[in-house]
Amino acid sequence: MESRKKSTKVYCSFTGKSREEVDIMIDGPSGVYISDHAVALCQEIIERERKRLGKDLVKDEEPEAIEFLNLIKPAKIKFILDQYVIGQETAKKVLSVAVYNHYKRLCTGGVPDHKALTESGIKEVDVEKSNVLLLGSTGSGKTLLAKTLARILDVPFAIADATTLTESGYVGDDVENIVLRLMQACNNNLKKAQRGILYIDEIDKVGRKSENVSITRDVSGEGVQQALLKMIEGTVCDISPKGGRKHPKHECIKFDTSNVLFICGGAFEGLQKIVRNRIGSKVLGFDALLKDQDFEESELLDFVEPDDLVKFGMVPEFIGRLPVITSLRDLTVADLKHILTKPKNALVKQYKKLLGMDGVYFDITEEGLEAIAKKAFDMKTGARALRSIMEQLMTDTMFQIPDLYNVERVVVDEHVVIGRKPIIYIEKDKDAA
Ligand code: ADP
Repeated sequence: MESRKKSTKVYCSFTGKSREEVDIMIDGPSGVYISDHAVALCQEIIERERKRLGKDLVKDEEPEAIEFLNLIKPAKIKFILDQYVIGQETAKKVLSVAVYNHYKRLCTGGVPDHKALTESGIKEVDVEKSNVLLLGSTGSGKTLLAKTLARILDVPFAIADATTLTESGYVGDDVENIVLRLMQACNNNLKKAQRGILYIDEIDKVGRKSENVSITRDVSGEGVQQALLKMIEGTVCDISPKGGRKHPKHECIKFDTSNVLFICGGAFEGLQKIVRNRIGSKVLGFDALLKDQDFEESELLDFVEPDDLVKFGMVPEFIGRLPVITSLRDLTVADLKHILTKPKNALVKQYKKLLGMDGVYFDITEEGLEAIAKKAFDMKTGARALRSIMEQLMTDTMFQIPDLYNVERVVVDEHVVIGRKPIIYIEKDKDAA
């Protein structure tokens, strides 16, 4: 395309401006002309319209292809998880394998022994999605596990709360809208979002409320499960890039969930009883061992079978779409103590860093850590309580320290934790100064 200088007078077919009034005039077929001015104007209108329809939000850039040889192996995934998540050994192992297999499905090339695969006919096998169901009490690390996995794999991650979900068309959060959060997590890059990890919390709350299915059938919960079911197994959903209700006049984007890894989590209170009853009704062999009352409640979740979850109130087809089921243990006092100090971003490390910036050393005794862990344990909200206990304990100190130039270290011991004395401030040695 180029401007043409013609002796005959030409006018822009859109703005009516003459050749002399514009910099560039492009001539089209059958005596039609368009000026640079008109093109700029059209560009502006297009931008405005794209914005109105939310189309400007969606980027469809091709993310890097997933190469088999570059996949992080399960042992390495678990090794990194260990640096953030205390305990939960089985769950960490099961998840490491599940995500490795999931991303293997998405590999585009570089699979070694490709020839052998083809010859053995294995190539024809479709590997199913390894969506995961995490069972475990509040604050045991379900969300942390899912979030850390996404960080290790460098894929978008989003959390949705199943209790706010409704079937399409009802008041609440449309099930389809949860994938929108994955878009938001990666700057609206559609292709990248389509292979992210979506954690659906409190999935147990959409289960029917009772074992007695015929009487207390929670129909709405079941509807949400049905809607989620399709999405989890892989479907193309229409979502409005701007969120909210879909509107027939608004442009929708097509979001394919086939490669999204869904991790569903829930406390499933009462499920232990169902497992115990089932096991208790069998008296032979290995099951007889399980009758032992020695099992901790959360250990019983290791023996969960899909039927138990159906009894709990989950729709069988829904459970069928979550082939990987694993449980988390209730955290012990020792675990909670470790959580305070061991993980990469442990709370105590954070306080040490913050106070260190004010030139003050933060010291917490073993007994002090134990007392905090015990206090958190009694609150029965897993590791969640640790943060609030620490905040409560440290707020005054964090307020005062920046103005106390003579303090060298602050010490927390068990007496401080149980409120018998205030935090100990140790002053700088004047002679040494
Ligand atoms: P859940 O999803 O099981 O209710 P979360 O993963 O949200 O629990 O845990 C809440 C907080 O407690 C996390 O942010 C994390 O700091 C801490 N936490 C919980 N479990 C663990 C764990 N096993 N190891 C380390 N930190 C944990």
